[in-house]
Amino acid sequence: MIDTHCHLTFPEFSGRVDAVLAAAHADGVHGAVTVATTTANALECVALAAAHEGLYASAGIHPLYSDSPCDWEDMHRAALHPKCVAWGELGLDRHYAKPPIALQRAVLDEQLSRILRWSDEGLAKPVIVHCREAFADLVPILASCGLPRERFVFHCFTGTPADARLVLDFGAWISFTGVVTYPSARDLREAATLVPIDRMMVETDAPFLSPQPVRGHWPNEPRHVVHVAQALAALRGMDPHELASALDANAERFFGVRWAR
Ligand SMILES: [Zn+2]
Repeated sequence: MIDTHCHLTFPEFSGRVDAVLAAAHADGVHGAVTVATTTANALECVALAAAHEGLYASAGIHPLYSDSPCDWEDMHRAALHPKCVAWGELGLDRHYAKPPIALQRAVLDEQLSRILRWSDEGLAKPVIVHCREAFADLVPILASCGLPRERFVFHCFTGTPADARLVLDFGAWISFTGVVTYPSARDLREAATLVPIDRMMVETDAPFLSPQPVRGHWPNEPRHVVHVAQALAALRGMDPHELASALDANAERFFGVRWAR
């Protein structure tokens, strides 16, 4: 399996990324994408990806880091690296009061216009979207930004069935984390049954969101993505192996990567 979204540059993994990836491999997780949160972090992500087989990176500014120092040249330099396979994560987050939504919006607008320009210059990549309690704001922004709709994935989807419908009608993909394994997440589990198999991915968002049955473990790790896939297979009454290979094929198609098995 592939963990399509984790943060292996975070201090929780400092000095032990080799061990974390080896443990993932032993559990059948042979690839991952380590996702950027700031422009400086994008350079760290590509450096880490360059040093590890099967690990790829993204370049972008997370909405909750909109108030961090930003150097667009660093983001562009990260994106030029051959192991940088996506933009993001970018978007809006209304769950917290800070950074203010106006600042998140300003950084998002500038980020999308630069990505559009860089895409036209030969750096077209899929886009990892962070959307928390902001579907009604964010979907129209993405719809009018000029980037292709089927190249967006709403990562760590935790919305309602109506939110899922909005994202699917827009044309984007949806990715699930360990939250979908939590028995209390009834709305989300219902939403998960709406997503066509060919528009679905799975991820850990490590170090966050350890899935059942390792919920409460800190930090979460890429190897635990198998529990997310198993929960989705159970929800949809599918054979877990069949769903896992469909999800792998999806990740390869979305990111344009061929992961070695
Ligand atoms: Zn993330």
